[in-house]
Amino acid sequence: MIRRAPQAQRMNIAIIGAGIIGVTTAYELASDGHQVTVFERHGAVAEEASFANAGLISPAQLLLWAAPGMPRKWLRQWGDAHAAMRLGPRLGLSELSWIGQWLRASRAHRSTECRLQLQQMISYSLERLDHLRQRHGFEFDASTGHLLLVRTAQEHKHLQARLSLLREAGLGFRELNAEQARKLEPALNPDSPIEAAIELAQDEVGNCRQFAWMLKNEALHLGVSFEFNTPVRQVSPGPRPTLSTHSDTTPRPFDAIVLCAGASAQALTKPLGLKIPLMGIQGYSVSANMREPLNAPRSVISDERYRISIARLGQRVRVAGGAELGYRHDDKRSTALRTLYKVLQDWFPGAASMTSGVQEWKGSRPMMPDGLPLLGASGIPGVWLNLGHGDNGWALSCGSARLLADTLSGRSPELNPEVCSITRLHR
Ligand SMILES: Cc1cc2nc3c(=O)[nH]c(=O)nc-3n(C[C@H](O)[C@H](O)[C@H](O)COP(=O)(O)OP(=O)(O)OC[C@H]3O[C@@H](n4cnc5c(N)ncnc54)[C@H](O)[C@@H]3O)c2cc1C
Repeated sequence: MIRRAPQAQRMNIAIIGAGIIGVTTAYELASDGHQVTVFERHGAVAEEASFANAGLISPAQLLLWAAPGMPRKWLRQWGDAHAAMRLGPRLGLSELSWIGQWLRASRAHRSTECRLQLQQMISYSLERLDHLRQRHGFEFDASTGHLLLVRTAQEHKHLQARLSLLREAGLGFRELNAEQARKLEPALNPDSPIEAAIELAQDEVGNCRQFAWMLKNEALHLGVSFEFNTPVRQVSPGPRPTLSTHSDTTPRPFDAIVLCAGASAQALTKPLGLKIPLMGIQGYSVSANMREPLNAPRSVISDERYRISIARLGQRVRVAGGAELGYRHDDKRSTALRTLYKVLQDWFPGAASMTSGVQEWKGSRPMMPDGLPLLGASGIPGVWLNLGHGDNGWALSCGSARLLADTLSGRSPELNPEVCSITRLHR
């Protein structure tokens, strides 16, 4: 439903960044009747973190990074060539300070709070995604059902605490043995032992970039204007905030500016005096044409040990995962990529054709230490935030955008976004 804002409340709003968060935000604000302009430094939408992510939408959050046991898991894998997490040589003060905050956020009490909040927001976001899918007839290589594969009895034991939290939250899942798991995903390699599997039937996987492209077209129909190849240099706050691009001779005024600039947002927030502990946690994906559908996953599996997922996205198979800090963004490390190929080989050998058309990608998750996004007013006049969605930007996008649009338009949002507000940083 398009909710037209009364003429007096119709605002002229700028959005910086056309990743999945910027595109969904533009769509929702324009649906409310606002005049929206999106500024993007690349030539198209979803060219950075939203380009080739794993595509998972998982309210269960069994693979949450800020969780008890994660720091120990990181340490245990220190010397392992296939470690799920890795620290590089370019660690500065901000990285070390971020790691300190992440360690605090990984304590049981705080982590449970954040997990519950994320579960609620992702479920809400899935509802919004369904609404858009039905409204516009979108198809984006989506499928439902997710299997978390556990290799050893010890890993299974470690998983129990997280499963108890799922039970408490009332989120449905099934514990399966190897035989049951192989029935759901018949192409799983018979030579790779499975200790147990968790079936998350409500989880979904889909192509985030494809969705962003389709939603951008709908946003254009609603009158959103996209200015591509237009990096924003500076934002100046005020009742009529302004922004300057590289080509503007005078700053451009708006009623509100929403920062959806992903992992690069700090270049814009720092000069405003906004200190945000946002870190680009890098990860990888490999996408390849399906060689033989019978050898490929039906939907998506994740490997508990390596935190790598393997999904069928239309005619392609995508393997994604890894988390690293302290490496150059443009340095695609061959050892990290090798881990993706190894895990694909472990579970679905022969699923993908590796001779041509293979896309290797590295992207930066815009991650807050507690894993929750930053949503709502920034505390600086005229400047709003929708960023820091970490490992769940695609999963949270449709819900975050609606919550932001409701808050900005002065309506009561369906979920209370207070937990994601900037005030949590000052506690
Ligand atoms: C390996 C990997 C796997 C992932 N798997 C999943 C998953 O399974 N499920 C999930 O939900 N999420 C996943 N994510 C996370 C998800 O991809 C991100 O959270 C999400 O894409 C972030 O979207 P965004 O719009 O905030 O950022 P981006 O997509 O990075 O968009 C930000 C945009 O802002 C633009 N920009 C920045 N500064 C400026 C400026 N000054 N002027 C103009 N434009 C600017 C950038 O060019 C960019 O296009 C994964 C990420 C990685 C790396």
